[in-house]
Amino acid sequence: DLATTYDAARAYELDRAHVFHSWSAQAEITPMVVTRAEGSHVWDANDTRYLDFGSQLVFTNLGHQHPRIVAAIQEQAAHLCTIAPAVANGARSEAARLIASHTPGDLDHVFFTNGGADANEHAVRMARLHTGRHKVLTTYRSYHGGTHLAVNMTGDPRRWASDHGSTGTVHFFGPFLYRSAFHATTEAEECQRALEHLDQVVALEGPATVAAIVLEAIPGTAGIMVPPPGYLAGVREICDRHGIVLIADEVMSGFGRAGRWFAVEHGGITPDLITFAKGVNSGYVPLGGVAISDEIYSTFAHRTYPGGLTYSGHPLACAAAVATIRTMEDEDVVGRAARLGEDVLGPGLRALAEKHDRIGEVRGTGAFWALELVSDRATREPLAPYGGSSPAMAAVVKACQERGMLPFANYNRIHVVPPLTTTEDEAREGLAILDAALDATA
Ligand code: PLP
Repeated sequence: DLATTYDAARAYELDRAHVFHSWSAQAEITPMVVTRAEGSHVWDANDTRYLDFGSQLVFTNLGHQHPRIVAAIQEQAAHLCTIAPAVANGARSEAARLIASHTPGDLDHVFFTNGGADANEHAVRMARLHTGRHKVLTTYRSYHGGTHLAVNMTGDPRRWASDHGSTGTVHFFGPFLYRSAFHATTEAEECQRALEHLDQVVALEGPATVAAIVLEAIPGTAGIMVPPPGYLAGVREICDRHGIVLIADEVMSGFGRAGRWFAVEHGGITPDLITFAKGVNSGYVPLGGVAISDEIYSTFAHRTYPGGLTYSGHPLACAAAVATIRTMEDEDVVGRAARLGEDVLGPGLRALAEKHDRIGEVRGTGAFWALELVSDRATREPLAPYGGSSPAMAAVVKACQERGMLPFANYNRIHVVPPLTTTEDEAREGLAILDAALDATA
C-alpha cells in the first residue's frame, strides 16, 4: 500500500539495496529522501523544507506539482495513457504545434524523443544524412547527454570514461572570457578570436567532412557562459559558408530558462535544428525532441528517416507539455524569468560578489546564473579542480542545505537556477541563504 511504499526510512533502505544511481560511486552516496514537493520547495524525511534553487537538474521550470500540469496528466491518463508513435494523437499533435509556434524561423516540424541525449543523437543523425558528411564539431565545456554519441560530443569530464573517439566528434573552444583560451581581455576580442579559432578548426578538419556544429546556445552545466554579442551570428555564418548544419542544444537553456523562449534569440539567429527536453514539460514525464527546419524536413519528405523510439511523443508527456506551454503563455512565465534575472538574481548575485572574495565571477541571464568560486581572485584559482570536488566547495553546499536551500553545484561553481515561477521573495530568501553560507564557510 502507498503508506508503506512511501515510508521514508524504508524508501532509503530499499534505495540503498536496489537502486543504482547515475554518475555515482554506489556505496559512497547518501541520497536525500524527498517525501513531497510543491512550487519552489521540497521536503525531506524529517519534514524539513528546502528551497529548490537548482530546479532539480534544471528542469522543474514551473516548479513542483503545478496544478495545471498535474490535471493535464491525470486527464490524459484517464482518457488514453499511451498509443504507438505511428498514429496521430491529439496531445502529441497539439504539443508539436505549440512547440513549433515558439521555435524561431521555420523550425516547424518536431521529432519527439524521451529526453535530451537521444534528441542530440537524432539531430546529428539527421544532419549526417542531410549533408552526407560525418564529423560533428562540439565545444569543450559542454554537456550533451549520457548515451554513446552524446557523451562523446560532451566537452566536460563526464566524457572521459566513455570517450573512444570513434564517432567523428571533434572538440573546439567556445568563448569564455573569464578563462579565455585565447588570452583575450575584452568580450569583443574573445568573440573574434573564438570565431577565428572555429574557422581554423573547420578548415583543418576539412569543411566537406563536417556535418554539424552542435552548440549549447548558452552552455549550462559546464558553467552558464553567455556567449558574447556576435558569437552565435558568427557561427551561423561559418555554417552557411560551408553547408554545415547548425544544431542548437537547448535542452537546458530552452523554454524560458534564459528569459527567452529559446536562448538562441539572445544571438538573433535561427539554427537548422534545435534539441530540447527538460523545461518543455517541466520534466513531469520524460520528453525531449528535435525541432526541424523545412529544409532538413524536406530531406526526409520522400526518403525514410531511419530512426525511431517506442515512446516517441508519449501522450502523457505531450499532455504535460501542452499544459506547461499554455501556462507559460497565459502567465508570461518567460517574461517573469527575464525580470527575475534583471531585478533580483543578477543584482543580488553581484552584490554578493562585492562582499565575498571567493566569488570570482557572476554570469547569467533570466533564471540561469553561475557563481565561479575561486580560492584567489587574482590568479582565478578555482575552489575545486576542473572535473573534481574539494572540501571547500562541499562546505558551501552543506552550509546552504543546513539553512534550507538546495543549490546546483558543479566543480567550483554554484548555479542559481530556480524554477522560473520562483517569487521575488523566494529568490531573495535563497540569495540570503547563499550569503550566510559563504559567510559561515569563509
Ligand atoms: N543537453 C544539455 C544541454 C543538457 O543539459 C542535458 C542534461 O542535463 C542533456 C543534453 C541530456 O539530457 P538527458 O539527461 O535528458 O538525456
